[in-house]
Amino acid sequence: LRVSIIGAGLGGLLAGAALSKEHDVDIYERLDIYGGRFTNLPYEGFQLTTGALHMIPHGPTGPLAALLDRVGAGVKIVRTSPMGCFMTKDNRQISFFNFRELLSARAQARIPALMAKMLVQKKGTVADMVWDDPEWLQLSDSCCGWALSTLSRDTPGEEAAAIIRHVVGGGPGKYNTPGVPMGGCGAVVDALARKLEENGGRIHLGEKVDSVIVEDGKAKGVAVGGERHEADMVISDIGHRLTSALYDARYSNPKYADVLQKLRPSAGVKICLAAEEPLVGHPGVLFTPYAQRVNGMNEVTHIDPSLAPEGMHLTMSHQALRSNDIQQEIKLGLQDLRNMFPGKKYSVLLVQTYRDDWPVNRISSGFDLGNLTPVKGLYVVGDGAKGKGYMEVEGVASGVANLLDTLKA
Ligand code: FAD
Repeated sequence: LRVSIIGAGLGGLLAGAALSKEHDVDIYERLDIYGGRFTNLPYEGFQLTTGALHMIPHGPTGPLAALLDRVGAGVKIVRTSPMGCFMTKDNRQISFFNFRELLSARAQARIPALMAKMLVQKKGTVADMVWDDPEWLQLSDSCCGWALSTLSRDTPGEEAAAIIRHVVGGGPGKYNTPGVPMGGCGAVVDALARKLEENGGRIHLGEKVDSVIVEDGKAKGVAVGGERHEADMVISDIGHRLTSALYDARYSNPKYADVLQKLRPSAGVKICLAAEEPLVGHPGVLFTPYAQRVNGMNEVTHIDPSLAPEGMHLTMSHQALRSNDIQQEIKLGLQDLRNMFPGKKYSVLLVQTYRDDWPVNRISSGFDLGNLTPVKGLYVVGDGAKGKGYMEVEGVASGVANLLDTLKA
């Protein structure tokens, strides 16, 4: 079959690398680089990124690692140790698993009830799950903000519980905790692009898809720069809403169009620091529940020193966007970093804001629509079609794996 893919982000490349084993695949990418929000951005000897923080949520044992393996794209993913820590109010670090130390006796007494809620609660948000209790909200906002770029009140409780179950995985000693790909995000998308090309597939850079050609309710290809490219199947890596704008609305249906109107991306701010001395001090996530804005940070150069100039560290903080006053959000984020690391030697390399059509998540976790569209032969992958219960690039990979299963069936 001839397959046209719109967008060479991680989702498009994963689908392309997998399908090019058996089919003739063309990927059209509007930018002059591939990788979308998951590639390196070299800057002053540091490997900054177009989006992700060089971290794979379930490390070498999640859906992304499994799919990379399945398509033969070899990438070494090293699990972080420790998995994560919390920063206390007085700027000490404690293990993630000792989170009780952060809570009063009253809040600790709610742990069994919270566990029970995680097993049975089907409705409501994470904020409902933690009774809007301010002590618990600080912890849950920090975890949701770091992992999903949403706050507790915007995160469906059921989805968060499913994500936690996937992290806990096979139980103690077998947790699916985060990992860092050696070479950073860029190494992952490079390996996929190489695989696609080895299989005879093609990536067309600088070629924006203007429309999806639909005839009799079936996708027949894509139009790029006025040229028609026929295909038997079209896969879009740009989310349901942007994809639906590429074909005649007559082929949509009112229910689908209505759902699209309600979809919200998740937005965030990332601050990249050049650290002359370790700030976090280990490769695991440092959750920061008592900061005004920053939800967490990492320092992946403890695993891959090549992501910074020799002797330096790359420290990246992330915060869910709490208001539309971007300058104020950034100011508060920078203030957090100054408060947490007084007297430490670092400088700010870059501050990046992610929202609208270059968001953290094209659809906030828990609201994904799946791969199908109202048009036959037109499918969506990427972080607008994440697999249920999987966050970030694990969601992207599990969504692609779901599509591959659907196509096989
Ligand atoms: P994209 O990367 O957006 O790819 C879509 C591609 O389509 C783009 O290259 C775009 O240019 C192209 N395109 C758009 N329109 C057209 C058109 N009309 N024609 C042709 N091409 C088109 N995930 C993690 O797992 N770990 C992390 O540490 C992490 N941190 C993050 C931090 C930030 C600040 C951000 C922004 C994201 C983070 N993520 C993280 C999420 C992760 O980066 C994304 O889930 C993932 O990269 C999304 O990939 P995608 O293929 O769905 O979309």
